[in-house]
Amino acid sequence: MKALVYKSTGSWYQVKDDQGKKWNARIKGVFKIGNITSTNPIAVGDWVQVELENELEGTVTITHIEDRDNYIARSSPHKKGKQHHIVASNIDQAILFATVREPRTSQGFIDRFLVMAEAYHIPVILVFNKSDLYEEKEYAIFEHYQSMYEKIGYPVHLTSLQTGEGVDGLIAMLDGKTTLISGHSGVGKSSFINLMSPDFALRTQDVSGWSGKGMHTTTFAEMFDIKGSGKIIDTPGIRELGLVDIGKTELSHYFREMRPLLQDCQFNNCLHTNEPGCAVKQAVRDGIIHEDRYVSYYNLLEGI
Ligand code: GDP
Ligand code: ZN
Repeated sequence: MKALVYKSTGSWYQVKDDQGKKWNARIKGVFKIGNITSTNPIAVGDWVQVELENELEGTVTITHIEDRDNYIARSSPHKKGKQHHIVASNIDQAILFATVREPRTSQGFIDRFLVMAEAYHIPVILVFNKSDLYEEKEYAIFEHYQSMYEKIGYPVHLTSLQTGEGVDGLIAMLDGKTTLISGHSGVGKSSFINLMSPDFALRTQDVSGWSGKGMHTTTFAEMFDIKGSGKIIDTPGIRELGLVDIGKTELSHYFREMRPLLQDCQFNNCLHTNEPGCAVKQAVRDGIIHEDRYVSYYNLLEGI
């Protein structure tokens, strides 16, 4: 029987079979997937083969994991740099929720996320939420971001979950897809998922009694069915997503506007900082690459 993993809580996984029935699943024995070393062999979004364990208790055993189209990971907090914690897999696209007010998202945060998404081959939609709070100044900031990011191929949406502005357009982009929802705390992710999935609303109510803060104290990813045929993956721990395995010389490959220029640098190991004959720096001078994006590149490079 084939099933899809909706939630992982350590040793148990919540899966749903193709009839829509939920099961508690676990692994028996040792799993090795390709050459990936992972502290958790199974991730939310994985397709697995299961065998019935106990029908009454609703338990199954996972016997096989299907190949992943893609996945996102973060370094395991216990073995830094060595092992990866796979957060979620088989992701069609990601929405990065940002805001210009309450709280204001920094460009550094956005660009770091975009780099990570490029590295994992996940298309990103940028959403600027809380438009109802924007005044002239905030609109100007939004328009600056919109023009900068659309020019390099990232769709940018303006939404308000308060007034509904832009929300239908955004929802239309989720149909039939598995979408990772991310963004820092307070930008409206829960409000959006609430709107999309009754299961999420239930879950939040469920635990608020004992945790006091809803599920947002957890770092486990969880998938929800949404109206229509789409799915949403909520990743409360997204802020910890590091630049897993990205080396200094590799970083510019994940700035999509830099990628086509890289072969024009004089040195093929150019880091685009002080080297002579650098095509990237020339493009910044020529206004082809936005200076602010270059600043993000430089800051990320320093952090590697
Ligand atoms: P999360 O931390 O990203 O999950 O954010 P929440 O969904 O919990 O939202 C944080 C706060 O912002 C809550 O008080 C929401 O009611 C509020 N909020 C969410 N969307 C909007 C919006 O579009 N406009 C305004 N004014 N407030 C919003
Ligand atoms: Zn260069």
